[in-house]
Amino acid sequence: MRIELDRNVCQGHGVCQMTAPNLFTLSDEDGLAIQPSNPIAPEFQDEGRLSVVSCPERSLRIIEE
Ligand code: SF4
Repeated sequence: MRIELDRNVCQGHGVCQMTAPNLFTLSDEDGLAIQPSNPIAPEFQDEGRLSVVSCPERSLRIIEE
C-alpha cells in the first residue's frame, strides 16, 4: 500500500498528522504535509487509511499494491 500526497492541493491543516502521527509531519518551510515514505509499513496502514479519508482537501490517495 502506498499513500500519495498532492502538495498542490494540500492546505496544511495537519489533520493527517493528527490521525497518522507515524506517517505525517508538516514542513517547517511551507507548512504543508510532507510525502510519507512508501510503501506504508503494515503496522501504519490503519492510521494511513484514516488520514486519507480525514483529509479535508482530499489531497491524499491510497494506491493498493
Ligand atoms: S490533512 Fe490533507 S490538506 Fe491537511 S495537511 Fe494533511 S494532507 Fe494537507
